[in-house]
Amino acid sequence: MRQEPLRYTPFSYRSRYGIRLQRLTVDGGFSCPNRDGTVGTGGCTFCDNAAFHPAYTRGKSIPEQVAAGIAFHKARGRKADGYLAYFQAYSNTHAPLDMLRARYGEALACPGVRGLVIGTRPDCVDGDKLDYLASLRAEGYIVEVEFGIESVYDQTLRRVNRGHDFACTRKAVAATAERGIPVGGHLIVGLPGESPEMIVAEALALNELPLSLLKVHQLQVLKGTAMEAEFHAHPEAFLRLGPDAYIDLLADFLERLREDIAIGRIASSVPPAFTDAPWGLLKHEALVRSLEARLEERGTWQGRLAMGHNLSQDHDF
Ligand code: SF4
Repeated sequence: MRQEPLRYTPFSYRSRYGIRLQRLTVDGGFSCPNRDGTVGTGGCTFCDNAAFHPAYTRGKSIPEQVAAGIAFHKARGRKADGYLAYFQAYSNTHAPLDMLRARYGEALACPGVRGLVIGTRPDCVDGDKLDYLASLRAEGYIVEVEFGIESVYDQTLRRVNRGHDFACTRKAVAATAERGIPVGGHLIVGLPGESPEMIVAEALALNELPLSLLKVHQLQVLKGTAMEAEFHAHPEAFLRLGPDAYIDLLADFLERLREDIAIGRIASSVPPAFTDAPWGLLKHEALVRSLEARLEERGTWQGRLAMGHNLSQDHDF
């Protein structure tokens, strides 16, 4: 049983690497196979990638972005022993290996940068790219990969036009972890057609993956996306959870999630372009406090019910 007051496993670079590492968002100029025609052109129905670019990345080279990012965090008094270049926008392994080497190399050459965090799709990695990332780790750099999983259900992945299935995620996560690279996953709670029971059961499918990090966030229906049109046409397909119900559902989910999968985020901030905002402008820290309090009220913790489920009997992933 875990010790109070920690009832879930929060992720921090400090606990993983023993030093304070600040992540700097870097736009590497990559594209997305679900937008450029490689897999599709429409993109995932929930996606408005422009929402994920901080102002300091716009119109700058990679070294300029790194320098601006460091200045941004220093100006806010955030101390760090080193920096990680976080390639977040679009799919950051969706390019030939030579291009990856060049762009990652630019970031790694910047003073203070200790490594990379690479956000990508599971269908955008292969053995050569992963071997290259593993070789960077062998040179002493920190390298982590975060995959957009979004859902473990193929029916949901088809509905949101994701362009890959969950088997693809399983394969990519395994191939990455096999090379000793820490793997994270991103999951969206509340995608259309998913019931609370389905969402809670996702933890059981994720437990079977060699993940060391999970970032979870509530569905945000952004203005101008295909999902906004679906939301207006079929509101009954969306859970539309308020913060209180979301925290309850998250507690159910975490009870079933392996304790060693660290939680990097439990919600996203709500931008003004959010089309249906029952949340208002809640801060992440406030939600974390609510989650801790809810777990305590219930006398439960992450992983309490993670063992002993027979996936093949109970669920069809
Ligand atoms: S969410 Fe990611 S994979 Fe989907 S369209 Fe947007 S950038 Fe591409």
